[in-house]
Amino acid sequence: MLQTKNNNLKFTYVKSLKDNYIWILYNYINHKCIIIDPGSSKETIKKIKKMKLKPTAILITHYHNDHNRGVNSILINFPFIDVYGPKEVQNCNVNKILTDEKTINLLDSEFSIILTPGHTLGHISYYCKPFLFCGDTLFSGGCGKIFNNLYREMFNSLTLISLMPKNTLIFCSHEYTLNNLKFAKKIFPKDKNINFYYQKVKNKTKKNIPTLPVILKIEKRFNIFLRLKKILKKQKKINSTEFRIFKYLRCKKDKFK
Ligand SMILES: [Zn+2]
Repeated sequence: MLQTKNNNLKFTYVKSLKDNYIWILYNYINHKCIIIDPGSSKETIKKIKKMKLKPTAILITHYHNDHNRGVNSILINFPFIDVYGPKEVQNCNVNKILTDEKTINLLDSEFSIILTPGHTLGHISYYCKPFLFCGDTLFSGGCGKIFNNLYREMFNSLTLISLMPKNTLIFCSHEYTLNNLKFAKKIFPKDKNINFYYQKVKNKTKKNIPTLPVILKIEKRFNIFLRLKKILKKQKKINSTEFRIFKYLRCKKDKFK
């Protein structure tokens, strides 16, 4: 078993496009790094060079091009790095397609591949304790948009993430937190936790401070999609289930501006 040296790992990020985060995880001793979901390349390459990092791999979570548009240019600058991703991104210069493989070794650490369908059918997440790169599955205060009616899949993926160790650090791919909490506040206007975190996030956003990553145990306090059990308990409706509440909230969120 490979010994993990995760305490040598640090993270940084590049803001990309409108609200994407390109996460960079690196070993601060040997300067090796991996890049997660590079939707663009220019700023990413600039940052890597400035920090004198040595990229060893790119990890892709799903096929939407705001998560992989930068791969080709990064490969021109760093031609010998591996590109990992699910089968649905096989046309994005991926040379390591992750199918049944459960773990990969990067930065002298073990990364688990977690299947997290819902946003897309092939969506995967990468976990190297305590870091979870979950793409467009879980967002702070919300969850990813569902395409192709994959409600059940997304529900199961979120359940899976909610059962992970409480100190898991969640790295989502978009800064949607304020909008997500605005929606949560509209649905549960008197909820103390939602109001508390809404104010916190509002202040951070005003100052342009990222609201990510977020610790899972904190996230569970205010993310309505991770509090379905509590919501169900309060509901008096017969025939209601956590899944039905999830679907109702997700559909309502789709119409929220
Ligand atoms: Zn997406």
